[in-house]
Parts: sequence; C-alpha cells; structure tokens
Amino acid sequence: MKFRVGQFALVALFTFTSVGCVEEPANTSTEEARSTDPVEESGTPAIEKSGSTGFVLTNGAVYTVNEEQPWVEAVVVQGNKIVYVGDDAGVAGFRGDGMEEIDLEGRLLLPGFVESHIHIGMGAGTTSGVVLESTDSLEEVLAKVRTYATENPDKKTIFGASYSAFIFDDKGPKKELLDEIVPDRPVYLMDHTLHAAWVNSKAYEAAGMTRETPSPAGGEYVKNEQGELSGWVKGGPAHLPILVKTGAITSDAIMASMPVLLEGMSEFGFTSAIDMGAPFATEAIYDAYVALDEAGELPLRLSVTYYVNNEELAKDAADKLEEYAGRWKSEHVWFDTLKITIDSVIENQKAATLEPFLNTGDRGSLYLGAEAMEKVCMETAKKGYGITVHTIGDRAVRETLNAAEALREAGFTDTRFSTTHSQMVDPADRSRYRELGVDAQSTGNWAVHIGANVEVLGQERHDTVQFPFRSWADDGVTIALGSDWPATPGGFEHGLNPFNNIYTAMHRKAPPGLEGALGQDPGMILKPEDQVLTLAEAVAAYTIGGAKMLGIDDEVGSIEVGKKADLILLDRNLFEIDPEQIPKARVMGTIFDGRIVHDVLYGKGDSELVDLDDLGDGAVGPCSRH
Ligand SMILES: [Zn+2]
Repeated sequence: MKFRVGQFALVALFTFTSVGCVEEPANTSTEEARSTDPVEESGTPAIEKSGSTGFVLTNGAVYTVNEEQPWVEAVVVQGNKIVYVGDDAGVAGFRGDGMEEIDLEGRLLLPGFVESHIHIGMGAGTTSGVVLESTDSLEEVLAKVRTYATENPDKKTIFGASYSAFIFDDKGPKKELLDEIVPDRPVYLMDHTLHAAWVNSKAYEAAGMTRETPSPAGGEYVKNEQGELSGWVKGGPAHLPILVKTGAITSDAIMASMPVLLEGMSEFGFTSAIDMGAPFATEAIYDAYVALDEAGELPLRLSVTYYVNNEELAKDAADKLEEYAGRWKSEHVWFDTLKITIDSVIENQKAATLEPFLNTGDRGSLYLGAEAMEKVCMETAKKGYGITVHTIGDRAVRETLNAAEALREAGFTDTRFSTTHSQMVDPADRSRYRELGVDAQSTGNWAVHIGANVEVLGQERHDTVQFPFRSWADDGVTIALGSDWPATPGGFEHGLNPFNNIYTAMHRKAPPGLEGALGQDPGMILKPEDQVLTLAEAVAAYTIGGAKMLGIDDEVGSIEVGKKADLILLDRNLFEIDPEQIPKARVMGTIFDGRIVHDVLYGKGDSELVDLDDLGDGAVGPCSRH
C-alpha cells in the first residue's frame, strides 16, 4: 500500500527578525535516495506487520538500562508492551499461539535509542532538490543545476541547497549565471549557511520583486552596479519569502524525502526523537508527520517543538504551543515542548559569551532578554509544557539557568527544562544543573578540538568551559545525547550515527578516520580530557536520558516490564569489545512499538539498507561545528 496524502499548505514561519543559526542541511539526492525506498519500489509498507502477537527473545546479552536489573538473557513482548524481562528459563509460560521465537545468539539487545535533537522535516525539505555539495566548484554547481532542470521539466521551480558561499567573491552570486541555464522558470538555491540564497530573474518575478522593493529588517536584496537586483539575497527575512512565493520546497517533496530519512533512522536504532524546528514549511512538515503516523509509516515516537527565537514570537508562544498541541497529534506524534533559541554559534561569533571573542571584541548577543525569557517560561510551565533552550555561549547558559531558577522559585518544580547543545558552561554554573533540576542535552561529536574555535575563544577558555559531561554525570544530572542533524558535521552517515556520538562523548576526539568529517584537528583531544562519559553513561544518555528530557521515561528508555516494546539488536556487544570498535557497531534489528521496522538478520520486515551516501556528506560553515 502506498501512502498518499493531499496537498498541504506550505506555510512558513518567517518572522525571524533576528535569525539565529538557521541550521544547515546535508546534501541529498532525493531522486537517488528514493530508489532505495521500499515504499516506492515494492509497493509494500516500510513497516511490516507480521502476523505474530508478540516475540519471545531469548539467549541474548540484554542490557536493560534499568539499574535494578541491568543484564538479563530474555525479553518477551506482547502487542506493543514488554511483559517479561529475565532469564531464559522464565519465558516458558509465554510461548504459544502467535508468539514468534527469536534466538538472539548472544547479541546485545538495548532499549531503542532516543534522538534528543534533530530536524527531520527541515532535513527532508533541504534535501529535496538538486544535490549541491559543499565541495562543488561554481562550474559543478551550474552543471548540476542545468542537468537537474533538464531532467525535471515538470518542476515549477528548481530548488537546491548547500552550495558553498565561498565559491563567490564579496559581490556574491549573479542572477545572470542562472538565467543563462534556466531562463524559463524560477531557480532558488540556498547557500551552505541557509542564511543566503542565489536566485534567477524568474524567481524575482514570481516573488513580485523589483529594484524598488525595500530590503526587510535582517535581510538585503543585493543590487548590482546598475542598481538592479543582483541574484544574491542575504538573510532569512529577505530570501525566505522568495522560497514561499516560488514554491521551491513543496509539501510533496517533503513527503517524498521523509520516508527514506525515517528508514535511515530505524537503521541507526532510533525509536524516539524530538524535532527541534524548521525555518520553513512548518505546517507541511507537521501534516506529514501526522499523515505518516496515521498510515502506519512513522517508525518512531516523535515529539515536535514549537519554536521561538525572538521576543516578538515569545509573546504568544505558550498559546501557540497549546494550539499546535491540539492541532497536530496522533498516536506517536505530539507537541508538548517549547524550543527557545537564545543565542547563535561560536563559528559566527554571535554566541552569547561571558568574555569577548578575541577577533570581534564583543560578547555576541541574546535573542531574548531576561524578562521576556522568564515570562515565556512561566506561561509555558503554567500550561504544563516543557522547555528546551538552545544555548551555545556561557552567557546564554547562565541566563537560561537564571530563567530556570525563577521558574523553580515560582513553584514549577516539575516542569521539564533542558539546555540543548550546552556547549560552553562556566565552571561556576555547572552545579546549577543539579540544583535546578535542569537536563543537559548535547552532541558527542561536537566535543572535539576545533582550531577555529581556539582562535576566537583563546586556548584557555576553549580548554576549560566546553561540554562538561563528567561534571554533569557526577552530579546525577540527566544527560541526553543527540546529533542536531542536519546541522552537524559528518552528515546523516557520520553525524547522526549514535555510535560515533557515544565514542566522542567517551573520548573527546573523533572516531578513527573521521577527524576531517567532524572538523577536528588531527591528533588533538578536547580538554579538559577527563570530562568524558563512561560507555554505560553514554548509552543511558541515548536512551533513558533522552526519554526523561522528552518526558516519556515512564514508557520508554529502558527495558522493563510494562514499558513500550522499543528494542534494538546490535551486531556486537559494546561492553565487551575494544572501545575503538564502538563506531563500527551496527543495528541489526529495530522493534518499534512491538513491530519490526528494521531487520537484516531474520528476514522479517525490510532488510534492504538505505544507501547512506545518498543522504549527503554533511555541511560546513558558520552554523555547523567546523
Ligand atoms: Zn538544532
């Protein structure tokens, strides 16, 4: 059965007057990726529904992430619930009609992973057009656009993302180059930062823009020497309206990209995730999530956030979140968290820091002042929702913890509150996570030594304040690891990969051979070297830690009787192998909500792997971690 949904309204959240880090896409060929999509190819659903009523899983090395009963041999699933956790002998009573027996042959079984920071819909959108790689030359970009336009005569607009802004001089890209190869319809290409676009004359025409059109706040319609629109459009408030008017990213394209991304996530063992927002097509994305879930095609539990990054948006954020929570919900999709972005990133020196950046001499900026921050947190807490705050700079972390403190003092002691990224944490603020009950979300792969950051922070601060994993763990703080894909180096294959992130969280250096892909200086370890997690802590951060951050730890995050049957089977036992082998681990099978959604061992369900090369090589630039 093919899922089909109607046309969705493409509505964008373009009120980004202070666009922060508009996060970055990976380069993907949807066309290529689609050919590996079993929905398209065989006409069978990506999620197979076996005739069984449950599974009797025996002879395993089952690591439950439940401290009371950490290691067992067997698990029994009935429907979508775990009904038995224990030794092999204890399963006898569960055998019988409709129960499928699986011999795990000693392999490691874990709770399904929780991806605590990702942008699935944004990734689906930005990977839905022509594949532009950050390494492409100008000639290569033009050749790809020409070929794509020829091969897609029916596409109303030619869309692409992630050409490198560095292939142009300070006058930027020119519309004439695109007019020459595509004179008949709009072309809209986003550069690798997503902060700027390159468009042709037809795109301006479709958007109704002329040399007289005034530039909006936070953006610029760049003019050429003749005073005409040049083809270069800077800033989200300027270029995103063109994206909408040209229909560059369609809901159909998002729908077409999404299944293959979700399938790739099942192959990495993710059975829960939180979507941290998109700068465009938000309603189409939410529609797609619910439609996929209702069609039985969503292979994970998906918390979706309502996103704000300025005081104006914050004013009605709690009400909007409540409205969205009512409007988009299905069995595995829900809104109950406000995402606030309070600063930018180190790479563009716009993160809010306590000390000035060495090159700019300033301390970056906060998108919300203390008063607005406190107000929106209170209003959100009053409605019973949780809060997660993008914090990169140590001033952003401090201000966010201040807001959490005000919230706790006002009596909201149970409101879920996390900092996401949590990159620079002044030593004086570390213990406040424990004191205030704030969860720390972060990305293992970012905890590496990056020369460009040393230059702007200075060696001492670079080596002192970043990613205090050990301190949080010693304090008993809930740590949740995630990837931030597609806004992370290494792309889908290396950036999203939980085993790479577990390895880096344990070592503060990139997995062997991935130094370049993750932007790390070869041979360097990020200091303080002892701010590492143990393997068990890193696994917990990808399971129960993420579940707590999402507020679903009573249902998932560990293998316990009564919890939902989200389970993954690995090809090797992480706890027994040489830690250097951890990044090579693969998920052989994924059970989501009692259904097999990925299996390469037993011939149950889909056994054709997504070609990860089709999902892009990752991003470079000011919003990535290079
Ligand atoms: Zn993000």
